[in-house]
Amino acid sequence: MICPKCGTELRDGVLMCPICGTKQEVPPPVPPKNIQNNPKIFTKTRVISVIIVAAFIIIGLCKVFVFK
Ligand SMILES: [Zn+2]
Repeated sequence: MICPKCGTELRDGVLMCPICGTKQEVPPPVPPKNIQNNPKIFTKTRVISVIIVAAFIIIGLCKVFVFK
C-alpha cells in the first residue's frame, strides 16, 4: 500500500501514514487471486526448504560413509 499524499510505502494494516500523517482509507477487498496464490507460494517454499534440508542430510551422511 502506498500513501496517496506523499507516496511512502506503507505496510498493510497501517491506518495512518507515519511520514505525513494522512489517514489511510480502508484498503479495497483483496482480490481472490492473492488469497489463492499466497498459500501456494508458501507451500512451495516450504517444500523446497524441506528438499534442501533433506539433500544436505543425505550429502552429510554420504560424506560420513566415505570418510569411514
Ligand atoms: Zn504520507
